[in-house]
Amino acid sequence: MKHVIIVGAGASGLAAASRLVENGLSATNITILEAQNHIGGRVHTVTNDGNPLEIGAQWVHGQQGNVVFEIAESAHELNTDIQTLESSGFAENVVFGFEDYKLNKEQVQQFMQTVHSLEEISKSELSGWNKSFGEYFEEKFNELIFSKCSHSEFDRSTALAFLDWYHIMENVIDGADNWKETCGSGHLHYKECSGDPLVTWKRGYSTLFKILMKNLSKSHSDQQLPLSDRIFLNKAVTNIDWDSEATSEKKIQVTCEDGSLYPADFVLVTASLGFLKSNMHSLFIPALPTYKKRAIQGLGFGTVDKIFIKFAKPWWTTDWGGISLLRRRSQEADSHWSDHLLGFYTVRLHPNMLIAWITGKAARQVESLPENEILKVCSDLLRKYIGADFPFTEPVGLILSKWFSNPFTVGSYSYRSMESKEMNVWAADLALPVYDSNGFPRLFFAGEATHDCMYSTVHGAVETGWREADRIAKYCIGFHNAKL
Ligand SMILES: Cc1cc2nc3c(=O)[nH]c(=O)nc-3n(C[C@H](O)[C@H](O)[C@H](O)COP(=O)(O)OP(=O)(O)OC[C@H]3O[C@@H](n4cnc5c(N)ncnc54)[C@H](O)[C@@H]3O)c2cc1C
Repeated sequence: MKHVIIVGAGASGLAAASRLVENGLSATNITILEAQNHIGGRVHTVTNDGNPLEIGAQWVHGQQGNVVFEIAESAHELNTDIQTLESSGFAENVVFGFEDYKLNKEQVQQFMQTVHSLEEISKSELSGWNKSFGEYFEEKFNELIFSKCSHSEFDRSTALAFLDWYHIMENVIDGADNWKETCGSGHLHYKECSGDPLVTWKRGYSTLFKILMKNLSKSHSDQQLPLSDRIFLNKAVTNIDWDSEATSEKKIQVTCEDGSLYPADFVLVTASLGFLKSNMHSLFIPALPTYKKRAIQGLGFGTVDKIFIKFAKPWWTTDWGGISLLRRRSQEADSHWSDHLLGFYTVRLHPNMLIAWITGKAARQVESLPENEILKVCSDLLRKYIGADFPFTEPVGLILSKWFSNPFTVGSYSYRSMESKEMNVWAADLALPVYDSNGFPRLFFAGEATHDCMYSTVHGAVETGWREADRIAKYCIGFHNAKL
């Protein structure tokens, strides 16, 4: 019987393992090696004050055509109060403002309508655009705001401040450090699922793994896929020797950091694109073929982090959804990391918390700072922006995601970069299997970055796990003319 090793127990790895078992492979022929001390990867639900808090993925993006929505909905695990948009910066009860001046509702509405209509127009215009998404957006925004319309509602510096806020928002959504690094035409590769874009889980995103492995309900334990025993935690894979002359029956040797060895016929790699960028030269023996190395190099992978700020009790009113930070442009070349904070927003189920989103270089910098320094800067900002509106009290703690410093993620999610366009490398190149010198496929690749149109999402990751499980099953059948 063929043996499959899956590197990584995130959404794609666990989706693949479940699918292989459902396809008929015995679970004893699957080994899942996970580097960290928990499963889930970039889906990481922790418990805070008895409620789930999402350090990584938070929302199910869309309903129709979204496999995660479908399986979570049928398990009755999703919240039904849809379209709240809480924590996102898009909720209606979010205030937009400068330190000394808040925009009125009409101004915010006008800006939002402008950016939404630009997003719509871009869908037909970007395919012929050779430059970055950022260059497109800035050019069109300027045209729309400053040339074609006469707006008495706001001045030029307010419009530019809003554009800068939207730039940070776009980086949060897209994952790039800067929207001038996102390929304009590549931006169109992403396919949105229609319906509520921000659906939340009742008991946290990690419930997904219980559903995938069919162990959500104790009363149906007979239906459980026997995979829990096949997941080995704290097993960081350091080498995959995939084309050796070994005469042993198993053609691949996988080595872990602790020296343990695992033989296999097929290896499915689900490590993040960030991990592959940092480790591809040492991980694979022999080196990967050039097309694969180029795909790993060219596709973009950025950093998006969350800063959860805790207070002893809420000092804001229940009708307040947060503040989006607007800043006047300055001549100074160097900015402080806090200039890249999107805003402070309320957090579902956590009435004492606010979340601040941060991306790119600023996020990587924050990850290395002491907590008290981050707290001081955030608390000073909050006082300046809303101290006059609320009886502000000092924060008492914070929880910071560190997706870049995590050596098994090295960033947050993938995007279509200008470099990928210049190199003409795409998700399909990353997804292709790698063949040994006898022409047999040995290495398979899943993970969000290998999805051609749902990259950067959990539903995309799940689909890629299923895709590769089906591919592995097909190859096994092809080799031996027998079902797995
Ligand atoms: C801050 C943040 C917010 C997000 N928000 C959303 C959201 O709201 N909605 C959404 O749909 N998506 C969101 N995403 C994206 C989503 O989390 C990912 O696309 C998805 O979880 C990726 O799954 P994956 O299986 O491809 O990779 P991963 O989850 O990264 O899984 C890979 C696994 O491989 C392990 N691994 C890596 N290297 C090794 C090694 N050498 N040996 C053994 N194991 C290894 C890792 O530890 C990890 O567990 C967010 C991500 C982040 C970071």
